[in-house]
Amino acid sequence: MSGRIERLRAEGAELGARSFLVTNPVNVRYLAGFDSSNAALIVRPDVVLLATDGRYQEAARAVPGVEVVMAERSLLSYLGPRLAELAEAPLAFEADHVTVAGHEALSNGTALVPTKGVLQRLRAVKDANELEAIRRAARVTDAAYERLAGEKFVGRTERELAWRMEVLLREEGAEGLAFSVIVASGPNAALPHHHPGDRKIQAGETVIVDAGALVDDYCADCTRTFATGPLPAELRRAYALCRSAQESALAAVRAGAAAADLDAIARTEIEESGLAPVLHGLGHGVGLEVHERPVLRPTSTETLVARNVVTVEPGVYLEGKGGVRIEDLVIVGERGPEVLTSFTKDLLTLN
Ligand code: ZN
Ligand code: ZN
Repeated sequence: MSGRIERLRAEGAELGARSFLVTNPVNVRYLAGFDSSNAALIVRPDVVLLATDGRYQEAARAVPGVEVVMAERSLLSYLGPRLAELAEAPLAFEADHVTVAGHEALSNGTALVPTKGVLQRLRAVKDANELEAIRRAARVTDAAYERLAGEKFVGRTERELAWRMEVLLREEGAEGLAFSVIVASGPNAALPHHHPGDRKIQAGETVIVDAGALVDDYCADCTRTFATGPLPAELRRAYALCRSAQESALAAVRAGAAAADLDAIARTEIEESGLAPVLHGLGHGVGLEVHERPVLRPTSTETLVARNVVTVEPGVYLEGKGGVRIEDLVIVGERGPEVLTSFTKDLLTLN
């Protein structure tokens, strides 16, 4: 914990703040290992205060290295009038999390410094323990895909198959899901954000499965596309194109690569094929949350650094006909990626 707190203090100091108020629950969990829907940290130069309400009192007292402030359910209304004694001004706060009402509650004469994405930037670079947890989550996800590939697809609904994948993830060791399993079949596979429904999977189409285990609080994220019998030529071409674009972008992942350039590698290859338009960015960071920094898309200004964890997931979507998406989860290294999702990318045909 202390390394993370020290880095936050340094970030705050650079922004001209003496204290940092952290209210986003995921960021509180990242800094203090304290999992609560209602908690805030005030990180001062001399001490870290953990404010929460009575429900979490016992758990809060077990957190090492913090002083507990027993507040009320409405945390910011409680903290606002007490900031003069609790914090050293100026006080940085998470402007991308505090609501307008929360800001009003905090505005009691203490100098406030609005900040955006500070913790998200820190969280983007993983430490060894985080990388190990993500590796474990990826291994569980791989094992679930291995078993899913032995299942019958045709005749089952998307929803049934999604539930089956959820069970397999759990059986292989997931403590939960990183996100709701996506199964998109036939024409639905052309919709990147399809929610699994009652459509029965048929022979001779593509089925996109996008899933990830949650292990020790960390997410995995992996997509594979399966065939249910011989595919029409256009979908076979889409698969080959998607795989090629995915592998080209993947090969270019390393520290120092611009996120927008990586996106462009896959994007250009798909666009130049003339087969399909590109409907989404190449990928995203993964950690405590399944969508984190850095973001890999054309407008991204970020440059990858070692120990970022990102997905590489181009898609080729043929409206009304079907689609293909292939997604790997990787750790960014100085010389290249460490690919964590090792389930085969060969086109598997299942019945
Ligand atoms: Zn995914
Ligand atoms: Zn993803």
